[in-house]
Amino acid sequence: MSAVQALKAARDAGVRIGVDGDALMLDAAAAPPPAVLELLALHKAGVVALQRTGSDGWSGEDWRALFDERAGIAEFDSGLPRDQAEARAFACCIAEWLNRNAVRSPPGRCLGCGGRDYAHDALLPFGTDQTGHAWLHSRCWDAWRAGRKAEAIAALSAFGISMRTSP
Ligand SMILES: [Zn+2]
Repeated sequence: MSAVQALKAARDAGVRIGVDGDALMLDAAAAPPPAVLELLALHKAGVVALQRTGSDGWSGEDWRALFDERAGIAEFDSGLPRDQAEARAFACCIAEWLNRNAVRSPPGRCLGCGGRDYAHDALLPFGTDQTGHAWLHSRCWDAWRAGRKAEAIAALSAFGISMRTSP
C-alpha cells in the first residue's frame, strides 16, 4: 500500500482531502471507515506531498498524472513494453521538472565552479530563452547537469515516481 493508494481509497470512500502546511484536512459527508483513516495516518507525509502544490506550480498528483499519461502513450500508441514505456515517461518527467525548476544565474560567474569568465575559458549560457540561462564553463556543464538531474530524480521519487513505479 502506498500514499497513492491511500489517497485513492480515501476518495473512493467519499473523503475530500486538502492540505494546510503539513496538515491533512479531511472533509466527508459521513464518517469515513476507520481503515481509510488508518491508511491516511500511515501515509500522511506521502499524501501531503501528493496534494501540496510545489513552488513549480505542480502537486505530486500533477506529476503522477504526467507520468501515467506519458507511460500510457508510449505503451499503447508506440507499442513499447511496460518497463520501456515507464522509462520514457520517467525521462519526460525529469525534462519537465528541469524546465519547471529552471535555474538562472547572472553572467560573469560559473554556476558550477564559481570561477569567472576568461578569454581562454569562456562562460556559456545553458538553457533556453523560455527558462532563462545558467552560465557555466563548458567543462563544468556535465557535472552541474548531473547534479540537477539527481535533484529531479529525488523530487520525483518523493511522489512515488521512479524507474520502477508500481500502480
Ligand atoms: Zn566553471
